[in-house]
Parts: sequence; structure tokens; C-alpha cells
Amino acid sequence: MEVLVIGAGLAGVTSAWYLAQAGCSVTVVDRQPGPGLETSFANGGQISVSHPEPWANPSAPATVLRWLGREDAPLLFRLRADAAQWHWAASFLRECLPGRTARNTAAIAHLAAYSRLELRALRAATGIEYESREGGILHLFETPREFAHLPAKLRLLQDFGIAGRILDPDQTIAVEPALATLRPRLAGSLHGLDDETGNAHLFCTALAQKAQEAGVNFYLNNRVYDFDVVHGKIMGVRVFDGENRAGVMRADAVVLAAGSYSPLLARQLGIELPIYPVKGYSITVPILDEARAPHLSLTDESRRVVCSRLGSHLRVAGTAELVGYNLSPNPARGAAIMDWLEDHLPGVADLSGAEHWCGLRPATPSNVPLIGRTRIANLFLNTGHGTLGWTLACGSGKAISDIITGQRPKPDFPFLGPGPRWSPGRAQLSAVSSNKTR
Ligand SMILES: Cc1cc2nc3c(=O)[nH]c(=O)nc-3n(C[C@H](O)[C@H](O)[C@H](O)COP(=O)(O)OP(=O)(O)OC[C@H]3O[C@@H](n4cnc5c(N)ncnc54)[C@H](O)[C@@H]3O)c2cc1C
Repeated sequence: MEVLVIGAGLAGVTSAWYLAQAGCSVTVVDRQPGPGLETSFANGGQISVSHPEPWANPSAPATVLRWLGREDAPLLFRLRADAAQWHWAASFLRECLPGRTARNTAAIAHLAAYSRLELRALRAATGIEYESREGGILHLFETPREFAHLPAKLRLLQDFGIAGRILDPDQTIAVEPALATLRPRLAGSLHGLDDETGNAHLFCTALAQKAQEAGVNFYLNNRVYDFDVVHGKIMGVRVFDGENRAGVMRADAVVLAAGSYSPLLARQLGIELPIYPVKGYSITVPILDEARAPHLSLTDESRRVVCSRLGSHLRVAGTAELVGYNLSPNPARGAAIMDWLEDHLPGVADLSGAEHWCGLRPATPSNVPLIGRTRIANLFLNTGHGTLGWTLACGSGKAISDIITGQRPKPDFPFLGPGPRWSPGRAQLSAVSSNKTR
């Protein structure tokens, strides 16, 4: 079977890899000159299996209201005359209902736990190197009220087969001495033992190289702009190459893995995807003092900031801004991340050498990605991974490959599909269908 994958980010490259392993003839098309150059470029680096709870949870509306109007707020909602944004925000509020949060958390946890196993298997099979580091993630809590919720959080994780432990401030410093200066204000931490970190861009590049060796073709510098659809089937994918020459690519099946731009392409096919770009920022800073730098990855739960050690650098990332497809940096938000680093790990990294970056998370209101079939017989989705595209990459890629090749995907997850086999996905399927036909 010939499969065309649109997008060479984490979702696209992993889809291509597993499809090639399953015996498909695979082509990847991307508008960038290399793999992983958009949202998968400089993310927080965390494989965060221990954080399946989506942003949309019962406490979110009050938190968003509290932060409203603050330029440096972890979540900045700038209301625009943009129907897609309003629609997404309304759906986000609905997903904050306790029952929906519980269902979404379970779906993400199952896929994340599966994804971690697939990542480890892939790493062992290919030997690829991407500054990966095991040992887990420390979720830091500064208020006793937040810390009091940890036993319930841990029980939930354990129900999903995810290992963790609760640490008091002294135990936290014992496992991560780099946090010693934080001791007076630390209430404690949750140590996600199954978590790991790695450089997503290096991973995309290394896996694309392996995929190429396995026969996958990469058409880079090619932008998809439209589709030829005949009798409910994609017969051609229209592209412009780097010199603006138009061409048509053909395949038996097409995987849409274009991140935040997936809804714009799906709209050409009359399909509305509930994905909105949520902008986030990161800095990558050279480590000054190896001995004082954290060896575990950190998540500051109250400020929504993560920090990972990637080779000789620290990557600090966070903040969420709903401002449409706008990639111009907001200095206040970059500065908030710099301040976090200096406040939490003073003198550990060379701030004058910081590389600033921002990217658009392809976010569904529930943070549950869209993986599976559509009403167009040969169009498949692997997109909408929001805050967890690195965590969920390998599991999602393997699952879409299984679906396309007629295997039953392993994780208990609401895959989009027409029949009772994947019935949990029916609720989401209604969100991605429309009656426009061409
Ligand atoms: C600040 C920040 C921190 C994050 N931290 C983490 C983290 O610690 N852990 C985690 O799990 N996740 C994290 N994420 C989320 C994660 O990075 C994303 O979910 C993931 O990168 C999405 O991958 P993707 O392949 O879907 O999209 P992308 O990486 O954006 O790939 C989509 C590809 O499609 C291509 N494309 C788009 N339109 C077209 C077109 N018309 N024609 C051809 N090609 C096209 C693009 O060029 C791009 O290469 C973070 C995100 C941000 C912004």
C-alpha cells in the first residue's frame, strides 16, 4: 500500500516510520527544508506520562479568570474576532466538566503509557540518539493545598499502571540536589518514575534518517495546498514545490499530520477539526555549571513551566497564548521564562546565551488527539496532540499505522472510526465530520 504522510513533525515522522515497518511504501511531504522544524523544534523535551490531566479540568475556569489580562500569565487568552477561537473556547469550557476531564485523562494516560513502551522499543531497535535521559520528572508544588491533593493524584496514576512516588521537601532535595535553594518554599513533589526527556528535533531528524534508510521518501520544501476528491476518496494531493511549481502526489492512503495547520487543510476537504493553535515559548540556555544543573526534568505545577536538561543545555518552556496563527514573540512571555530560570536555578545557566523560540501547539479542547479514520475513505488523522505531542508521538504513530494496515491498535483510546470496534471514538468523530462533499 502507498501512503502519503503530510507533515514531518513528531506525528508525521513516527507515522511514517511505523508504516514503513509494517511494509507500506511511504512518502512524507513537508513545506520545511527538514524534519521537526515547526512545533516539534524546541518543545519542553518531556516524555510526561505522569501528567495525563488536560488543561481543561474543573479548576481551569477559575484559574483562567484569575490570570485574565496579565501579559505574563501562564495562560493568556486574547479574545479576537475569530469564530474558531470562540468555538474552541466554548468546547474547552465543556471539557472542564468533571466527567469529561476523567474520561479525557484516562484516554491520554492509556496512550501515554503505551507510547512510552513504544518509544523505548524504538530506541532499542534503532539505536537513535537524541539527548535522551531517563530518571523521571519531578512535579514541584509550593503550596500545602496543592501538595495535599497528591495522594489522590498518585492513586489515579497507579490505576493506569503509571509509577510515581510522593516526596517531602527533604526527599525532593535528596533526589535532586540542584533544588537546594528552593527548600524553604517547597511543599513537596511528585516523582513520575516512568518519565523521560529528549530533544524532539534531534529525534525527528534521526528517525527520519532511519526511515529514509528503510525506504521512506521525504519531499521537503513542498507545501500542500489542496486535494482532488472523487467519490469520497482523495485521488491527488496538490503541492507547490520550493520554486512554486505545482504538482500532484498520489497514494492509496493519506495521513494528515500537519500539526496546527491540519484544520486549514482539512477544511479544503469539508472537514472541520476542533484544533486551535496555542502558542508556547521556550529558551535553550548553555549550562554554566554541570555539577549544579538538575539531572531530573522539572515541572513547576503552579507556573506551568517545565525544565529539561538536553545535553549541555537547559530547555525551559511553558506558557500558553491563544492568539491565532501568530508566531511573533511577546517579550513579556519570554522574559517570564527567563525569570523562572534565574529564580529557581540561579547561576546554573548562561542567560546571555539563551536561544528564544515559540511554537503553536495543535490543541483540541480536551487535549485528546485526533487519531484514526475520517468520512473520506482514504484520509486518516494523526494530529491535535496539544501539550503532549512528544509524550504521545510513538504510540500515536504506531496506532495510526495499525489502523491503516487493518490491525487493531493496542491502547484503550477513543480512536476515530466508523464501527463499534473503536466505538469510544464515535463521540469525537461527530466533531470532525461535516456534510460538505466534493
Ligand atoms: C512551548 C512548548 C512546549 C512543549 N513541551 C512539550 C513537552 O515537554 N512534552 C510534550 O509531550 N509535548 C510538548 N509540546 C507539544 C509538542 O511539541 C507538540 O504537540 C508536537 O510538536 C506536535 O507535533 P506535530 O507533528 O503534530 O506538529 P508539527 O511539529 O508542527 O509538525 C507539523 C508539520 O506539518 C508541516 N506542514 C504544515 N502545513 C503544511 C502544508 N500545508 N504542507 C506541507 N507541510 C505542512 C509543518 O511544516 C510541520 O513540519 C510543547 C509545545 C510547545 C509549543
